[in-house]
Amino acid sequence: MRLKHYLDMNQKAAAERMGISQPTFSRILESAHKKNTLAIIEGKDIKVYGGNFDYKLSFKGYGCLNCNHEWEDSNASKERKVNCVKCDSNNVYYFERALI
Ligand SMILES: [Zn+2]
Repeated sequence: MRLKHYLDMNQKAAAERMGISQPTFSRILESAHKKNTLAIIEGKDIKVYGGNFDYKLSFKGYGCLNCNHEWEDSNASKERKVNCVKCDSNNVYYFERALI
């Protein structure tokens, strides 16, 4: 995705850069598009490894209505109830946020 959409390389050049065939590049790109779409629609984490990358495009966690503290929790879900990690209140909400 970086080669194709960020550096605007065509598929042939991008495939050569990665040392793979153009059809393989096309399949990998299609798979990446599907994963990213799923993550964006469902609010899941996008973790990118390799090269100099290690970042996420979204995060989730809980916030406390009692003390206003918010914290990230990669296992957070709407269904999972937790108490505030700071004040132990059970008046806690779930959130998901995109970084883009
Ligand atoms: Zn709290």
